[in-house]
Amino acid sequence: MIQRPRGTRDLLPPESRLWQAVEAVAREVFGSFGGEEIRTPVFEPTELFVRSVGETTDIVHKEMYTFPDRKGRSLTLRPEGTAGVARAWLENRLGDRTQPLRMYYIGPMFRYERMQHGRYRQFSQIGLEIVGADTPLADAELLAAMHEFFLRLGFADLEIHLNNLGDPEDRARYQDVIRAALEPRRSELCADCQRRLDENPLRVLDCKVPSCQVAAADVPALDDVAGDASRQHVARVEAHLERLGIPYVRNRRLVRGLDYYLRTVFEVVSPQLGTNAVLCGGGRYDRLIADLGGPAVPGVGFAIGEDRLIEVLPARFRDVALARPAVYLVPLGEAAGAAVLELARGWVREGVPVEVEITGRSLKAALKRADRDGFRVVAMLGDDELAARTVTVRDLAAASQTSVPFTAMPAFWRDLPAASARREAERP
Ligand code: AMP
Repeated sequence: MIQRPRGTRDLLPPESRLWQAVEAVAREVFGSFGGEEIRTPVFEPTELFVRSVGETTDIVHKEMYTFPDRKGRSLTLRPEGTAGVARAWLENRLGDRTQPLRMYYIGPMFRYERMQHGRYRQFSQIGLEIVGADTPLADAELLAAMHEFFLRLGFADLEIHLNNLGDPEDRARYQDVIRAALEPRRSELCADCQRRLDENPLRVLDCKVPSCQVAAADVPALDDVAGDASRQHVARVEAHLERLGIPYVRNRRLVRGLDYYLRTVFEVVSPQLGTNAVLCGGGRYDRLIADLGGPAVPGVGFAIGEDRLIEVLPARFRDVALARPAVYLVPLGEAAGAAVLELARGWVREGVPVEVEITGRSLKAALKRADRDGFRVVAMLGDDELAARTVTVRDLAAASQTSVPFTAMPAFWRDLPAASARREAERP
């Protein structure tokens, strides 16, 4: 038997309904903040990620799926979404449009990760980018849209961790500070961090190895070394968040794994998730487009890890999304069998989702199936009903049975608490 590659997953029904429901909320929320969808290729020239994410990052260093195509060009399956958005911005001259552009994306990313729970080699991210605005207000709006998204899913216990990563000039100075502090303690660091100390010292600060954390605890925070411009920027973002009542904590150790970030960086952490606690990461990237050869266009964005998000989805949202969203229409006898599809098509056109019993199950077997598969409403169509142009509707949740005329089914469905529960659950 051929098996799927390690680190990939099959997304099966009914779980796929959770993904659809989450993505519908993302489109709705990010759309209402002025966002529009962007879809970029799943593979890009390797150089794009080397130049944007950064040569010395873990992603580029050891996690990319890179391959030559038939003409020998080096291509890479995208490990993240922002680089492609920046490339598309340049290549399609999006700078000619009114700025800023708010763009969201939903799609698969690829990283050659070591196998562990919650880490996949193909995973999905939901991201939002605001390109063309350098104000603290832009960061705050982005965070407000993100916060709203999590609220609509019913999350109550997430933490936003925020930090100032400084401007690139600050960072260069800060790298020297880190080297000076850690060089004498090099032997206490893990092998990866000994390399990082030479290539990208900042990354030592978010290493999860305990001995590295102990050593890093004595390094001064970046914010203490940063210049006034970045400190003021992040302080203004914080003031906006306070005014909006969006809770956050200042985490002075937060650095993030991609080179293009500066000033505001943040993560969203779920206390339930343990070691894979980070659900979302983002920050400001004002030099990214210039580093790719374009003008100095600022941007800020985040990416939510959809796989992890779905693992910790609040129960109420889950239950509503998983409820079988259809009437189960069961024909009993030959005449009903002949009429059933026409009836179903009529209802579907009126907005009633219908799943027709097409295998000829007996009533008893059909009711058992309805129960097993989580249908709330079973509509039975026998000879008597057909003659009267009604169906006998059993509401399994209310354990009641009524006769509903064919033409009254759309209204019946609309008024059903189960049908409106989905809309209800998404209300903040
Ligand atoms: P990053 O692009 O590394 O900032 O990641 C943003 C979010 O994507 C993380 O917080 C995770 O939730 C998710 N993520 C990153 N890598 C993986 C992976 N290998 N498997 C599943 N989710 C991931």
